[in-house]
Amino acid sequence: MPDKPLFISELFYSIQGESTHAGFPCVFIRLAGCNLRCRYCDARYTYESPHASMTLETILSFVEGYPEIMVEITGGEPLLQDNVYPLMEMLLAKGRKVLLETNGSLSIDKVAPKVIVVMDIKSPGSGMEKSFAKENIALALQRNQKLPGSCEIKFVLTDKNDYIWARDLVNQHHLAKHTSTLFSPAKGQLDPVDLAAWMLHDKLPVRLQLQLHALIWPHLSRGV
Ligand code: SF4
Repeated sequence: MPDKPLFISELFYSIQGESTHAGFPCVFIRLAGCNLRCRYCDARYTYESPHASMTLETILSFVEGYPEIMVEITGGEPLLQDNVYPLMEMLLAKGRKVLLETNGSLSIDKVAPKVIVVMDIKSPGSGMEKSFAKENIALALQRNQKLPGSCEIKFVLTDKNDYIWARDLVNQHHLAKHTSTLFSPAKGQLDPVDLAAWMLHDKLPVRLQLQLHALIWPHLSRGV
């Protein structure tokens, strides 16, 4: 087993809240560090607060406390740490369903096909619009062609301008036809009522997503 550690912000057990797998119990491995600085970031502690250094063995032993539960690797940006790849392989080898949440700025080409990638495309309102690794659209579509459901695309939207931008991108690449495409209102910035109305008006076949964990535990910002 490789002994290089991973830098971990937190390990916790909660309800998956931001994908088509929302609602299921899930073990979260939140890696520390992020290469972006989104305006609406609700996980600043992953790059502003101290983190722990943990071996793969320690992380796996935490996961083993929750047998048969899905595992999500998130951040920060988890693909910044090379050792995330052996971690994903080990979890798959143990028969776990593995989700990887990534901000879309780094290529997903080396992620094992059986991992379910939940990939952001950052909108102009995030301030990080230019960060997206453009090859990731083709890679996401290829993943889903080979293994349907292995890549979901998520847009967090702050206003109407973001919505129009995302809608046009979805239409341009036929994303909704080939991949689960999720539109999520940025908390406290975009009213879901407005987002729902725009989607319905445009007959856009994407999924409106509300952060389920934030609805269940509105007063908690960590560990959910
Ligand atoms: S990618 Fe995620 S963790 Fe990084 S700054 Fe943006 S919202 Fe925060």
